[in-house]
Amino acid sequence: MYEKMDREILADLYLSRNGMDFLSELVESYGARFGGSEEERAAANFLVEQFEQAGADAAWTEAFPCTSWKRKSTTLVATEPESKAFDCIALPYCPPGQIEAPLVFLGDGHPQAYEENLEEMQDAIVMVTTATPKFYHRTMHRGEKLGRAIEAGAAGFIWMRGEPGGLPETGSARFGRACEIPAISVSYEVGHEILRLSKNGELRLKIESDNEIFETESLNAVAELRASDDNPEHIVVGAHYDGHDISQSAADDGAGTAVLLEALRALAPHKHNLKRTIRFVGFAQEEMGLMGAEDYAGKHVDDEIRFMLNLDGAGRGEKVSFVLQGWPETMEYFRDMAREMFETDISVGDSPSLYSDMYPFSARGIPSATLRSTPPATSGAPRGYGHTYWDSLDKINPRYIQGDAARVARMLLRLCTQESLPFTYKEPAEIGALLTEMGFDKVLRYEGRPVPGE
Ligand SMILES: [Zn+2]
Repeated sequence: MYEKMDREILADLYLSRNGMDFLSELVESYGARFGGSEEERAAANFLVEQFEQAGADAAWTEAFPCTSWKRKSTTLVATEPESKAFDCIALPYCPPGQIEAPLVFLGDGHPQAYEENLEEMQDAIVMVTTATPKFYHRTMHRGEKLGRAIEAGAAGFIWMRGEPGGLPETGSARFGRACEIPAISVSYEVGHEILRLSKNGELRLKIESDNEIFETESLNAVAELRASDDNPEHIVVGAHYDGHDISQSAADDGAGTAVLLEALRALAPHKHNLKRTIRFVGFAQEEMGLMGAEDYAGKHVDDEIRFMLNLDGAGRGEKVSFVLQGWPETMEYFRDMAREMFETDISVGDSPSLYSDMYPFSARGIPSATLRSTPPATSGAPRGYGHTYWDSLDKINPRYIQGDAARVARMLLRLCTQESLPFTYKEPAEIGALLTEMGFDKVLRYEGRPVPGE
């Protein structure tokens, strides 16, 4: 039954430059779209206009209050064994203030390194790299590495990039709130300079920050393609349109936002066939701690959201992964769907993550997944150029946006036309138990976030 619609969707997307044009305008006219900034709110209104032009039945913004942050000056200098200044950037939510303390380096931040240095970390500046710890069974996010240092009584934190290239790596220090201690980032090369200096005797570093933390509001941008009958069930698909203040944030997640818009545009002519409504959401403030998704999921938890698909990292490469968030019993259904669509490059798995906009949904028991594509290997870093100065438009091939928009539109078409869906809600406590089994309860506590169901 899908053949004719599939052909039209594919032809429409692959013959259109709309996705790339949208992305260019987003990054060139609305800058970094940093969470809580004027640019971010203007980008939300731009996205609403684009949703309307693409054929949405309705589009609007939903405002929510939030804590934002403004980058001002931050300096890092060695005071002992000699005086020396280093290039650095602050992590968002780095508070204003000044500290001077000895350095403790924990390498890639294996939990064992934290345990062995509990006393040394007290009142020290803890430096750890962005690399995945060797000989550990999972990755460790910045939020966990920083949270463990704060828990141990550190006075400051340095996030050292794990790969060469002269790039410090940004990322918010806390989830939607001021960090307790100054938190900054240095490049791999600067990190090594600091480590060399520490070989000449006790190294003391001074961090001075006059960054600003303030209260404001942000806007989620929402659009709807309505089902033909009045079935209250719907599907949410979302991407975060906000970015980091130091770059264009073209891949993370401007490209995902372009995929979102293009999926809407390609599905609009087929909406009379939909049995479930689709909500397309451009989330604000993801980079500052999933604040837009948290607000949306909280406000709409009683709506009948049958599935949530997140597009953080879609539209930036050719190898595509579709990762369920604690519904492994559903993998076979989606594998069958990929086969039926003849999308041989989609890999389907289940691996819950705490770090993007699907999490506020999965934590509430709403079946959810994330679809992303892997950028071509142009940098050895796990995030590629994401969260650095050079997450820029030049990395995006229009074909990536077209390809992922086609995958997403065809999946949504299937999810919204089948009589019944073979997956169900879970209790938040069930998700909490699953995360606890994986050791993520401790991680959430380090980050100052609740465990679902508690
Ligand atoms: Zn992202």
